[in-house]
Amino acid sequence: MDMVADVKCYHCGWISGRVAGRKGAPQHLWAFEARDGSSTPIVPGKRLHCARCNGPTFAEDLRSRLLAEPLGAVPVRTAVAA
Ligand SMILES: [Zn+2]
Repeated sequence: MDMVADVKCYHCGWISGRVAGRKGAPQHLWAFEARDGSSTPIVPGKRLHCARCNGPTFAEDLRSRLLAEPLGAVPVRTAVAA
C-alpha cells in the first residue's frame, strides 16, 4: 500500500511537503515530495529541513495515498493566538 505523511516543521509548523513510499519498504525507497511538485529520494541519515525557516522537521499524519489530498492542497497550518 502506498503511504504518505506530511513533513512538518518543529519551529514554525510549516508543511514543506510530504514523504511517500510503500508500507514496509526500506527508507531509501521512500521519496520527499515538495510543495512545488518536485520529488527527491530519501537519503538515510540525512534530515529534511523546513523550506521556510530551515528548522528540523518530523513526519505527521501517516495515511494511505488513496486518502491523501493532492500535493498542492497540503494545508497550510498556522499558529493560532490563544
Ligand atoms: Zn519552519
